[in-house]
Amino acid sequence: MNDMLIKGATLVDGTGAPARTGDIAFRDGRITEIGGPIRSAARQTLNAEGALVAPAWVDIHTHYDGQATWDDAMEPSAGQGVGTAIMGNCGVGFAPVRPGGERELIELMEGVEDIPGSVLHEGMPWGAWHSLPEYLDFLSQRRWALDIGSMVTHGAVRLAVMGERGKRDEAANAQDLAQMADLVQEAVQAGAMGFSTSRIRGHRSIHGDPVPGTFAAEDEVLAFAQALRRAGRGVYQMIPSSTVGSAPMLGGERHSQLDELALMAKASRVSGRPVTFTLFQVDEWPALWRQVLAGVVDHNQAGAQLYPQVGARPTAIVLSLATYHPFMRKPSYLAIRELPLPERLAAMRQPALKAAILAETTIAHPQPGTMENVVVHMAMNWDQVYRLSDCAADHEPARGLSLAARAQAEGVSPLACLYDCLTAGDGRQYVMRFFTNYSDFNHDALHEMHSHPATVTGLGDAGAHVSVIFDAVAPTFQLTHWVRDRSRGQRLALESVVHRQTLKNARLFGLHDRGALAVGLRADLNVIDFDRLSLGEIAVHRDLPAGGARLLQPASGYLATFVNGVMTRSDDLDTGERPGRLVRSAG
Ligand SMILES: [Zn+2]
Repeated sequence: MNDMLIKGATLVDGTGAPARTGDIAFRDGRITEIGGPIRSAARQTLNAEGALVAPAWVDIHTHYDGQATWDDAMEPSAGQGVGTAIMGNCGVGFAPVRPGGERELIELMEGVEDIPGSVLHEGMPWGAWHSLPEYLDFLSQRRWALDIGSMVTHGAVRLAVMGERGKRDEAANAQDLAQMADLVQEAVQAGAMGFSTSRIRGHRSIHGDPVPGTFAAEDEVLAFAQALRRAGRGVYQMIPSSTVGSAPMLGGERHSQLDELALMAKASRVSGRPVTFTLFQVDEWPALWRQVLAGVVDHNQAGAQLYPQVGARPTAIVLSLATYHPFMRKPSYLAIRELPLPERLAAMRQPALKAAILAETTIAHPQPGTMENVVVHMAMNWDQVYRLSDCAADHEPARGLSLAARAQAEGVSPLACLYDCLTAGDGRQYVMRFFTNYSDFNHDALHEMHSHPATVTGLGDAGAHVSVIFDAVAPTFQLTHWVRDRSRGQRLALESVVHRQTLKNARLFGLHDRGALAVGLRADLNVIDFDRLSLGEIAVHRDLPAGGARLLQPASGYLATFVNGVMTRSDDLDTGERPGRLVRSAG
């Protein structure tokens, strides 16, 4: 007898094939029948007429490395229909860790991914592992709402082998290379999903040091490719130099995106493995991404396996009085910053204080790499700054709604306009500073990226940047915006969006037991009321260990999510079931 029979749904099977109406049944976590009508008996039946049934989403770009050690609910991903999440991206993670090396890994994660250090100090069971295989063994005892796989990270490996030398811009010698490559091979053979590295200057520890490995020479990059070849499995993930621009304020990037493309193609050929890397449209070179994509096609024809990873929408830093904003390091603001919001708001509305804050010079935070410093020193480019309320649900506001335009219309400076926006109403206002994918003031570049056969969908960064970016909702946004609601340009086909966030991602990571609705595959699936699918209000929650804050935005319309045949969500609520396990790479 089947455990569950879902009847009369619109089946979007993850392969990209046209949606069709039918039934689906599963037993012991595996799909047993599909199509129908299915007449065999089931313990439970769900009438899904009018609803979509699709494989649960496979999110290949998350940073749950800390959270997975203390949490089991795995928000925000679990509430967005994600059934499998890959963490350990962008070169930062928590294993291997040398004795006494915890602090530097925390400070790296705190700076790069904006996960508060206090959260990681208090939340994580430090001492439960040293090597990456031990970390995986620890994780394999954990139970979550979804499955999790982990990469092994360049930052941790370089620190473990090279110590202080690894932090500095120092080349690895032959012995370092051999030891680091051995660690990576061992990690991937033990089940790590691949190897990740960051090569941008903007990814820094709270002390301002780039992630160890940022400036790695070609021999080091390729040593890890050799390690993957020897392991015979795994994905090479990279955020290439110059991905978010030339970073002049940080001393300038060393390599162009096209140089990096050639290096990644070499890494793919040397490893025989897929290489996936971050691809953004950036204002500095608004058409470069097209050249990169053309280069990918050429390299792939010559035997590389390059998978540019693209985001669902423009990446935005969220500014608010409850989190980060450009005024937070002004002397007159520092004097009131500890006040509860209502009192702080009342003070900020006093004309004298407002004038002082607007006129004062920023005092940098003593730790150069903190998010406070990033935000207060960020070039604002006011054309790219919008009130969240003007972005509605689509994140595609007309240029005339930017703070540049608003300020001009109101005859005030953009900074004063921002001040007014943040202090309006009850002070719970959000302003977005887009910094990728919005150079043309619309989503046409994104549409082209998502329509390109070489690209994969990712970059939601779930678990990271917890109070400045909320792109973890990307899997839901793909459906609401790209399939259904976009009004300023072309949309994407439902079947294509589903394929890209299920089977295509699962295959890239060698997860051959999931990603499609097919007999024998895992019963990881979403039942979705597509007409009602939506994202709610974003809000700040102080629910992390040590009272750490994060921005969360709930989704509605997920009637049910099943992971390994177990219902983890029902009508957008956590059922409390924890069928999620560690996924290990397969040989
Ligand atoms: Zn990342």
